[in-house]
Amino acid sequence: MSRFADGQDATELYRQAVCALRELCRVEGPGQAMRASAQVLSTPMWRAFTEDYSVSRGVPCALRLVQHCQHDPGDQCEPPGSDHSSLLLRNRRPDTFVTQPYSLDGTTLRQMLDYADEHGLKVSISGISPHFPGKTLLVMMHRNTD
Ligand SMILES: [Zn+2]
Repeated sequence: MSRFADGQDATELYRQAVCALRELCRVEGPGQAMRASAQVLSTPMWRAFTEDYSVSRGVPCALRLVQHCQHDPGDQCEPPGSDHSSLLLRNRRPDTFVTQPYSLDGTTLRQMLDYADEHGLKVSISGISPHFPGKTLLVMMHRNTD
C-alpha cells in the first residue's frame, strides 16, 4: 500500500481522513472516493494556483497570448484537446492559457503541440490539476520568449 505521509506529517486528523476515504472506497468504490477527494481539493487548489493572477471573463482564448482575437468561429481560440479552459491575466494582460482535459491521446497531444508551435507558445503539462484532482491533466501555455 502506498503511503504519502509518514511520521509527523501523518497527524491524527490525516489518519482519520484516510480511514474515511478508505471506507468510502470500500463501500462505494474508488470513483466515489476520488470524487470526494476532488470535491475537497479542487477549490483550494484552484485558489492557490491562481493567487498571482486574475481569471479572464469571456472566451478562454489562447491566441490572446500572442495576438488580438475577435473570437469568430474558426479562429481556433483554444488548442485541440482543450477542456475546462481559462485565460489567466497578470496585471490585466494575458499571461497563461490553462486547459484541463481528462486525457490526451497521442494524436491530440501532437495537434496541441502543433498549435502551440504555430502560434509561438510553449507548453508544459502536469498531473496536478485543480479542475478534478486525480482525473484531469493541467496543460499550461505561455508566450514563447526563447
Ligand atoms: Zn479568440
